[in-house]
Amino acid sequence: MKEYNKMVSLIESIGEDSQKRRIKEKNALRGHEPKCKVCNSKYQKEIEHMYELKHPFKDIKVYMGDKQELITEMSISRHFKNHYPKRKAYFDNVKTMEDESIQEAIKYYPHLKDMFQETSLIGIKWFLIMNKQILKR
Ligand SMILES: [Zn+2]
Repeated sequence: MKEYNKMVSLIESIGEDSQKRRIKEKNALRGHEPKCKVCNSKYQKEIEHMYELKHPFKDIKVYMGDKQELITEMSISRHFKNHYPKRKAYFDNVKTMEDESIQEAIKYYPHLKDMFQETSLIGIKWFLIMNKQILKR
């Protein structure tokens, strides 16, 4: 019985570890760094938008300070050097995959083309819903 309990707790800890690892891998893929203040900021989108508009780190620091999120210019620069490119690459890749699946869908269902030219994500959702209904028939 003791051995059995040991085994169970071992299996459980392996399960937990692999779950933690999966989350970590996913975060790394998205460039999310748990300790980074920008990555964890409520205003991450706004901050990255400022960066894309070429606002200096100093302005971003002031902006975050106004939102009660204190940060150093160094941390901001680290985010844009290390995390941001990964995150951007990840989402660009997701966008490409979305576009590809839309192209594929249009190939088979040309009459859906107009619908897909709206926003892509809504298009895909619609496609999936419609497809489900077609399959049900
Ligand atoms: Zn970051």
